Amino acid sequence: MSADRELLKALLDALDVPLAEQADDDQARARLLDVRVSHAVIALESVLKHGPEDVEDSARWLREETAKRPVTYTPWERPDPKTSCSKCRTVFDPADTRHDGHDRHGDGPFCRRCIDRCHESTDAFHACVICDPSWGETR
Ligand SMILES: [Zn+2]
Ligand SMILES: [Zn+2]
Repeated sequence: MSADRELLKALLDALDVPLAEQADDDQARARLLDVRVSHAVIALESVLKHGPEDVEDSARWLREETAKRPVTYTPWERPDPKTSCSKCRTVFDPADTRHDGHDRHGDGPFCRRCIDRCHESTDAFHACVICDPSWGETR
């Protein structure tokens, strides 16, 4: 890999801080991102100041600083809609074909149980990602 690409990769690794699974971890994420951004700025300033011969050193330094401060919280991962329910995140169980079981509902991204609960809901204010696909897409 060229030195330029090394630096780009180091910058990407530093700044690509995953969202937190738990809202409680949002602050830890914000602090980590703050630190990572300031290191990225230092690396970029150094390269701009010292020119191309500094690229390799800055990339190495940035990689080291990033490695010193790994992600400490559980990253949020979008569930795979083919293998687990996009609402409750339960892994589909093809053997559980009860009307409210944990098998996949048709070819959709939800389990039978969540579809059943959504359709059975008698709460006038009921809203969920099943009956309103824009729900829950804020993060
Ligand atoms: Zn579900
Ligand atoms: Zn619903």
